[in-house]
Amino acid sequence: MKQYLIDSHAHLEMRQFKSDLEQVLEKAHAAGVIHIVTVGSTLPESRRALKIAEKFREVSAVVGIHPHDAQDMDELAMEELGKLARRKRVVGVGETGLDFFRDRSPRELQEESFRGHLALAKETGQPVVIHVRDAYSRALQILEEEGLPERGGVVHCFSGTIQDAEAFLAMGLYLSFTGTITYEGRKNREWAESVLSLVPLERMMVETDSPYLTPHPFRGQRNEPAYVHLVAEYIAGVKGLSISDVGRVTTRNAVELFRLPVDLPSSILAYTIRDSVYLNVTGSCTNSCTFCQRSVNPVVKGHNLRLQRDPTPDEMIKALEEEGWQNRSEVVFCGYGEPTIRLPEVLQMASRIKELKPSMDIRLNTNGLANLYHRKNIVPELTYAIDTISISLNAQDADTFDRLCRPSVGPDPYGSLLDFSRKCVAAGLDVVLTVVAHPEVDIEVCRKIAVDIGARFRVREYNEVG
Ligand code: SF4
Repeated sequence: MKQYLIDSHAHLEMRQFKSDLEQVLEKAHAAGVIHIVTVGSTLPESRRALKIAEKFREVSAVVGIHPHDAQDMDELAMEELGKLARRKRVVGVGETGLDFFRDRSPRELQEESFRGHLALAKETGQPVVIHVRDAYSRALQILEEEGLPERGGVVHCFSGTIQDAEAFLAMGLYLSFTGTITYEGRKNREWAESVLSLVPLERMMVETDSPYLTPHPFRGQRNEPAYVHLVAEYIAGVKGLSISDVGRVTTRNAVELFRLPVDLPSSILAYTIRDSVYLNVTGSCTNSCTFCQRSVNPVVKGHNLRLQRDPTPDEMIKALEEEGWQNRSEVVFCGYGEPTIRLPEVLQMASRIKELKPSMDIRLNTNGLANLYHRKNIVPELTYAIDTISISLNAQDADTFDRLCRPSVGPDPYGSLLDFSRKCVAAGLDVVLTVVAHPEVDIEVCRKIAVDIGARFRVREYNEVG
């Protein structure tokens, strides 16, 4: 599975797909779409969505009544939805919410229906799929009053402001984007770029909302799941990632939210982000950082880095070959762990890479405690094969470092890290000191430390690699 996508919101049950659904699914499959979530908007359409999901393994259903049809929501409809929501191929409740743009149902009925769907999602243990148009603050208010279902949810076809996005993200919701982000016009482009830059990929999904909202350049034609790559491509462009990166991360997001029957790749040794191949060297570390995700959710840009054991050099070489490392510009030794714990293997691998392709840049991501761990100065050994060394400074002083990073080696780990950094600069390595954007980290003081040492400086987001 190289490049793959999930269309997290389509309407395959609608009449527009009645005559050629199988061809539509085939075309989607050929375009790398491995799963489609089809979302009922009325009770009959919810029943049809379930039928389609029961017939085609690559489709799952969400059941609900759209805010446009909120006037159809009554006790009987709710009872029927409750039965549907418990069926095996149903993965969510919705789409529900508020649409004050078209106002096709009275607003008070939309609100009542929204509250009812939220209660149903909680009762049935399903996530909720939310539709909002021109009603973001009211929708937020209702979500705050009612509370989210335990399984969370997604705001589909997000069209709000940056402030709306921040508020939904703070609640723990995913935001999903459609072909509207590809529409031309300065205003739309500015809106799309500002929102897409803000929302972390780890909280995004991609969708078509087909048969509606056909992406550029197919506007005017019927939309279908095969076009979801146009949405992913646009996001990739804004975020400076590849479409594979966007596909992999948004796929994992959709699989996790909806618990879709999709087999995701298990742990991975080598993976590509942008033009760099990362090598997952070890899961062991001499730190135990308070912000580290390695024991909780060791996933980076959609790659699962949880290792059952440390890989052998042969396994790492094989993984690099499979990743086509020779066509990339950089190999990075990393992992959710400390690569220098495996110094002999790292040096052996780095030398081999340089032999095979002398122009390849090699970077080592490290916590900077290698000299303490190995009880010797390892910097001279690094200079033979490593070009760039990225060292996690992570604190402006020793007390903050000890509190945040909880090192298991000593004495004076912070002092040793600074000394290691200076030695790397003196040895002629390209040194980058990094910090995680954490409330206890004084970024400006850290920046000054890096400048004084003669290193470059970079601020990382939590869980951000590459
Ligand atoms: S140094 Fe990196 S891998 Fe080690 S505990 Fe800290 S964040 Fe996790």
